Parts: sequence; structure tokens; C-alpha cells
Amino acid sequence: MAIDFSIRKANSRARTGRLLTPHAEIATPVFMPVGTVASVKGVPQDTLEELGAQVILGNTYHLYLRPGVETVRRMGGLHGFMSWRRAILTDSGGFQVFSLNELRKVSEAGVTFRSHLDGSSHFFSPESAMEAQIGLGADIIMAFDECTEYPADQVRMRESMEMTARWAARSKKYFEEHKQEVPWKNGPQPSAFSPQQNQIPRSARNDNDGASRDDSAAELRSAGQPRAAVPTLSEAAAPTCSEQTQSLFGIVQGGMDRVLRKESAERTIEIGFPGYAIGGLSVGEPRELTREIVESTLEHLPKDKPRYLMGVGTPEEIVEYANLGIDMMDCVLPTRAARHGLLFTSEGKVSIKQARYAQDQGPLDPNCGCRVCQRYSRAYLRHLYASNEVLAQVLNTIHNLSFYLDTMQRVRHSISLGEEYRFLPGAGFDRDLEL
Ligand SMILES: [Zn+2]
Repeated sequence: MAIDFSIRKANSRARTGRLLTPHAEIATPVFMPVGTVASVKGVPQDTLEELGAQVILGNTYHLYLRPGVETVRRMGGLHGFMSWRRAILTDSGGFQVFSLNELRKVSEAGVTFRSHLDGSSHFFSPESAMEAQIGLGADIIMAFDECTEYPADQVRMRESMEMTARWAARSKKYFEEHKQEVPWKNGPQPSAFSPQQNQIPRSARNDNDGASRDDSAAELRSAGQPRAAVPTLSEAAAPTCSEQTQSLFGIVQGGMDRVLRKESAERTIEIGFPGYAIGGLSVGEPRELTREIVESTLEHLPKDKPRYLMGVGTPEEIVEYANLGIDMMDCVLPTRAARHGLLFTSEGKVSIKQARYAQDQGPLDPNCGCRVCQRYSRAYLRHLYASNEVLAQVLNTIHNLSFYLDTMQRVRHSISLGEEYRFLPGAGFDRDLEL
């Protein structure tokens, strides 16, 4: 295996842990910002590092279409291409293709779909999705699955779940036969341009969950190093796990049926993966149903493996699911909401476009330490948004990501103390989130 997962502290269901990947050590539970086309929209990589992002997500469907897998592979994979030193996870393309609706055709062999860019026809199979993800070179890659639509009848949910199980076996077979083709198989390659890979994530520095202990050596190393120093390979590679290959995670499907979810979990575990994801949720079902399916599916997943809930959620949801024992989550909400002027703060949601902020000299969130809240007023942020300035999107996104990442850090800290983190009542993040 190319990851190593250890649990540091577990209370009832929640747990904190450490996930070692070839490019980074990740404190869990973790929130993963979404960088669809090898870019977290509006946020440069050095700012992501400053915010404490430990792992980001890339979308295989988008990167396959543009710039193309071969281009990325030649640049050393996504890490080299986008100059990102920490961990990356790519999805399999299954969910993105599922989202194309009218533009796709599913068969046992795979999915034929049309590009949203130019209408050209393409085909993804479990094998080609693995080939693409190996070329992109993320630390963690995902089995090719079929996301069942909601609502779906019993026959459809079963057929879809069984197809996902067969595709999972094909994904693993191809991956095992080709994993040595990853662009950084001889160890993570240093980018020519990034001198600060030893910078310690704020989350790791501040956590009291034990992760900081392991970073002390790296922190000492970086302390005496000139900022402009060009890294050596060994420095670029730390901290890592011993075997430098990717890891392939399986995905549990089964629609909104608890029995099918159990069967999907058992069949996926039987194939055997170093981590398991719960897919096919947040597809339009009521939130209570999402929670019910997550809770029941978790009962069937191995406790000693990382558990990843895909595409979730609001600030309250990421806290809720971390408390249920989910280790990894991703969602476009903080970045997408930011671009629509919707900001998450310790005092609840702020719609910065509102005229009431036009004369407001206070910070966006008085309890936030991010560079936006430290420097700019609500009045200025409102003005930027009203003027349709690019900087509005940049600053809003930086704050929202900071809020999510800091929230997860607080969750880890609470779990390490044997407590359960909760937002203050009335934060109301879940209401009026339609963008
Ligand atoms: Zn802030």
C-alpha cells in the first residue's frame, strides 16, 4: 500500500487520525478543497498552503478533456503541473459523467459521453478511468463507479450497485497491473519553481491532536532555511510513506437503500481497498436521508481504514459527519458560495452583496484569523462584489476556505479532548443555501 492510516484518538464514533500519503501527512478528519481543473478557483497554491490545506481534489473528467492527461503526465503529474507539494486526490470521472445527464450512455463496458466543452464524443471505462488517474498522478485515486440518480426504483438501485461492484473489480485489476506507471514512481519530483514545500500547514502546527509532534523536525529544518532556497529531493519528499505509489479507494453505492448499501460495502471490501468512500449522496435527497444512509453505511466499513464521504457538505454537515466517524470530505460549497457572495462566519452566513454592509467598517468575521478578515472591512468586500471585481471572488474564497479548514481543525481538537464540536445554535448554515 502507498498510504498509512493510524487512528490517534477515538471517542464513541468520531476519531482523529493521521493519513500518510506519498506527498503529505494529513491530519484527519480533513476537508479537501476542490480544484476541479487543477486550480482551486481564485486561490493561488501558496495561499492554499498558508490556509493549511493538506490535500486538494482534482476532477479527472475536466482534466482529461483539458489540458489532457498526457500533458499533465509529462509535467510530472498534477503535482508538478500545478506546483502543489501536498497531497492530491482525483475522482474517477464517474460522478462528473453522471452529471451530464442527456450527454451520456451507460453500458457494461463503460460510459460514452459528450464533452461539455465542444460536444465531442468520449468513452470512460474502469480501465481508461484508471489509466487517466495514473497519468494525473494524484496520491489517492478513486474506482470508477456509477452514481445512482435520485429518486430511483429498487431494480434500478440494485443494477447500478452491482455494476459499480463489477467496475470496482476491473478498476483494481487495471490499477494493480499499471500502478508503477505513475509519473513520480521514483519518488515525488520537486517542481523547479516552488521553494517552500517544507512550510508546515497551520492546521498541523496548531493541532493538539498529536500531529504537530511529527512535524517538529521539518519545522526546525525549515526555520534555518532561506525562503528562496531551492529544495533538495529528500526535503521535497518529506513527510511520506515508504512505498511511492498511488492508492486506489473503493466506492460504496446502493442508492438510498440501507440493505443495498450494506451489500455494496461487503462486496467492495471483499475486493479489498486501502480506503473506502461513500458515494451517491447529496444528489437531491433530503438531508435526513443522507445522514441515515451515511450512518448505516459506516457500520459496515472497516474501522482501521480511512472513510471518505464524497461531495458533502455545509459547515454543519462536515462537523456532523466528522462526529459520526467520517475521515475525509470534499465539497464545492465553500468556493462556489464565495463566488456568489455567500460567506460562512462564526456568527452565521453573510450575504456580502446586501446594502446593509455598504458602510460596515468591521471585519467579515471578528473571530477569523484569515488574511481577509485581518485586513479588509465588510464595506470594502461589499464594494468589490458590487463592482464585480475579480478580487471579490479571490478574497471571498480565501475566507470561506479558511472557515472550513479552521472548522475541521477545531473538530480534530475537540475529538482529541474527548469532546464533540458543535456550532453555536442559530448559526443557521443550512438555510437558504440555494445559490
Ligand atoms: Zn476570514
